Amino acid sequence: MGLLIKGGEIVTADTRMRGDILIEDEAILGVGPRLAAPPETEVIDATGKLVFPGFIDPHVHIHLPFMSTFAKDTHATASKAALIGGTTTFIEMVCPSRNEDALNGYHIWKERAGGASACDYTFHMAVTHYDARTEAQLREIVADGTTSFKIFLAYKNFFGVTDEELFHTLKLAAELGVITTAHCENAELVGQLQQQLLAEGKTGPEWHEPSRPESVEAEGTGRFATFLETTGATGYVVHLSCAPALRAAVEAKLRGVKIHVESVLPHFLLDKTCAERAGVEGMKYIMSPPLRQERNLAVLWRALQAGIIDTVGTDHCPFDTEQKLLGAKAFTQIPNGIPGIEDRVNLMYTYGVKRGQLDIHRFVDALSTRPAKLFGLFPRKGAIVAGADADLVVYDPDYRGAVSVRTQHVNNNYNAFEGFSIEGRPSVVTVRGKVQVRDGEFVGEPNRGRFLRRTPQYAEAHEEAVYAA
Ligand SMILES: [Zn+2]
Repeated sequence: MGLLIKGGEIVTADTRMRGDILIEDEAILGVGPRLAAPPETEVIDATGKLVFPGFIDPHVHIHLPFMSTFAKDTHATASKAALIGGTTTFIEMVCPSRNEDALNGYHIWKERAGGASACDYTFHMAVTHYDARTEAQLREIVADGTTSFKIFLAYKNFFGVTDEELFHTLKLAAELGVITTAHCENAELVGQLQQQLLAEGKTGPEWHEPSRPESVEAEGTGRFATFLETTGATGYVVHLSCAPALRAAVEAKLRGVKIHVESVLPHFLLDKTCAERAGVEGMKYIMSPPLRQERNLAVLWRALQAGIIDTVGTDHCPFDTEQKLLGAKAFTQIPNGIPGIEDRVNLMYTYGVKRGQLDIHRFVDALSTRPAKLFGLFPRKGAIVAGADADLVVYDPDYRGAVSVRTQHVNNNYNAFEGFSIEGRPSVVTVRGKVQVRDGEFVGEPNRGRFLRRTPQYAEAHEEAVYAA
């Protein structure tokens, strides 16, 4: 049986029109005004609603061992929460630690997600050490369709790589044509500042930000850019949080470095005073890079609107208050992470589009189309065109509500955006033609999600061919 989404305002990254979308099986069959539907087609009346391509969260953690504990979500809980919030595809970080085998880690993550996700997904493969054996494994992982790497310049001795390992990873990435995403902070400076602060008796969550100041992130961003420039690899800075780091990325872009920028939901809406609240209240807001001084927020919004920040992710990573209290004696022991997979679309729509800070097409671009393009999913995802996967969000711009832990579907006992009002939410969400969500409720197939195999797209030869065409 087909599906007809009728009479909605169809909004993509570059077009807007009133019309219908006809879906057959898993794909979009046609888009246009007043489409005729075969008998037995289910009709969804989208009058007065916006229709967006399914949103893509390019940066989430679901299975995550971190600081001797595990993030709270399963693929079942996180994928349902994602869908209820309008996200139909997520890209999860596979993060084995430095002393774990890369391929073994990849299999663990893939097995956990397999058959357990309600929405489609793919992975970024973290490279946490580099040697001949790992290189061979990475080639195998790329051949399996995971065509993006993740490296950490922070988290020394756990996830972090040395400059030598960074160099070899980027050389391999350039050769294979995969994009490398990077957490950019100077691990050595963070470590030294942490020790210094703790020695001075400064142990509370309010000292987390001073232990990783803006300059430390700017240095990491600049160093990553220099390594990209030297190796010719294509890079993507994850969760960029502040003006000095943005300047480093822009300088690199102007030099012709192939560097892209992501910022994440918390950095657009929250500032460091949240983490300065006493005890566990402050610990809820610990992530890295940290929440920054408020003056950075307007800079990030303007850069997003201008397209200097390419994408908006979440860095979704739920640790509950009991886990956060592992850091009661020292801020360095607080598990890092602020969840947001369920709230990203509604909050960016409300505080971006509705507040006049973000053009609606740029909104669709940053939260769907650009992640699809950068990570090799376009036009299967991130587009409303014939032949694309029928991942669609029928969005009700008249809905009024508020974010709350009481109504969330993420598996956690707090929400960092508690009480934030939202002006709009998904009314219907489809994954490859199947209705998975209606008005805030999951109504679909819990195991509908599929692993999305991708092909490398940033090899020199490939780019030359694209420009020549
Ligand atoms: Zn992350």
